[in-house]
Amino acid sequence: MYDVIVVGARCAGSPAAMLLARAGYRVLLLDKARFPRDTLSTHYIHQPGVAKLGQWGVLDDVVATGCPPIDRIVYQVEDVRLEGCSWGVDGHRTAYAPRRHRLDPVLAAAATAAGAEFREGCQVEGLLFDGDRVAGVRCTTSNGRFEERARLVIGADGMRSTVASLTGAPTTVEDDRRSCVYFSYWEDLPATFEVYARPHRLVGTVPTNDGRTLVGAYFPQSEFDRIRGDAMTAYLESVRTTAPEVHERLRAARRAERLYGTGDQRNFFRQAAGPGWVLLGDSGYHKDSIGNSGITDAFLQVQMLVDHIGDGLRDEAGLDLALGRFGRDRDEHFLGLYHGTLKAAGLEIQPERVTMLRAIAGRQDLVDTYFATLSGACEIDDFYTDELFDALALV
Ligand SMILES: Cc1cc2nc3c(=O)[nH]c(=O)nc-3n(C[C@H](O)[C@H](O)[C@H](O)COP(=O)(O)OP(=O)(O)OC[C@H]3O[C@@H](n4cnc5c(N)ncnc54)[C@H](O)[C@@H]3O)c2cc1C
Repeated sequence: MYDVIVVGARCAGSPAAMLLARAGYRVLLLDKARFPRDTLSTHYIHQPGVAKLGQWGVLDDVVATGCPPIDRIVYQVEDVRLEGCSWGVDGHRTAYAPRRHRLDPVLAAAATAAGAEFREGCQVEGLLFDGDRVAGVRCTTSNGRFEERARLVIGADGMRSTVASLTGAPTTVEDDRRSCVYFSYWEDLPATFEVYARPHRLVGTVPTNDGRTLVGAYFPQSEFDRIRGDAMTAYLESVRTTAPEVHERLRAARRAERLYGTGDQRNFFRQAAGPGWVLLGDSGYHKDSIGNSGITDAFLQVQMLVDHIGDGLRDEAGLDLALGRFGRDRDEHFLGLYHGTLKAAGLEIQPERVTMLRAIAGRQDLVDTYFATLSGACEIDDFYTDELFDALALV
């Protein structure tokens, strides 16, 4: 009998397994994949996420994968250009964008180092129940089937969560898909984290491992069926027309990988928890990838959950209360970000936003504060101060 079984061993599952094992619980971590294994992502970890890695003692191992430090952001909307850096969190002002086949094994290794048992190549296909309480999992591997029991099953198994569908976790918030995205990796492309936006288009660059820079292009979901027919042409055309300076740099660069993409950018919250189960990361709350925040959000949720559970995991009634509190905190903390992400994913350029960006463009302190609202290092209310309104009045 385990205290916890964690299904899914990436950004949500592995840190949860690590922290619960460090807290003295007996933890089994399962993933159907065998690591290292890539997954679709543009990799950017905001300062609050980097701070969590630092607090957990795994940041050095992530940095040791060779992902370059990112401490300058370029953000261009129409003719307005901002350059700066988010505020830091706990002294961490540098962001990182590690490839997922590098990051996720580091997180899983930290979980096993903490004492969690990790089984790869194990697909959870069923749940065990004691009455209406989830009491374990049923798994399939290449060698056959097995069952394991636990007081708590954590579904950290991504957007298409098996645990969510087996528990029947209802969707509590749901919105239409807004965007689709295509990206590839380029060598010899000097870049920092750069974002260029115009109506219905957004292009970004993200420096990552092995001297490669990711170049991505977002399009409206309404164009997905047309674009997917010849995605490479649409991708290069969008870079040329949305970020001409990046397109110019591509001339001296070499595309090192194929084009990746997805239109399956779902937007939802599911009920976070029930008797003996809880959803963590993308399984419980998923939004368009345009805000680059799923990894950071997963880390923050992990800490939230583990703090709520504390030393009460073996007390059934106390555990259920803790899971309920986690669900309420999760929704309260992330609902604003969710709606902000949906707005950004609409790829509209609101004139009042351009006016605001133009007003702060010459003010480095306001630019950095603005980037801090995007990273989550600063509350939005702390940005809309008298100082900002004074700057706006000058435009
Ligand atoms: C195109 C794109 C770009 C993105 N860019 C960024 C970005 O720049 N920054 C950022 O922060 N976020 C980004 N994200 C979001 C980020 O990738 C996710 O939010 C993050 O991966 C969520 O982590 P997770 O651990 O919840 O789920 P996942 O990463 O989906 O991991 C789930 C794991 O569960 C395992 N699993 C699933 N089902 C089972 C089962 N039945 N049994 C056993 N194991 C199972 C899977 O094998 C997988 O390893 C992006 C996403 C996309 C699609």
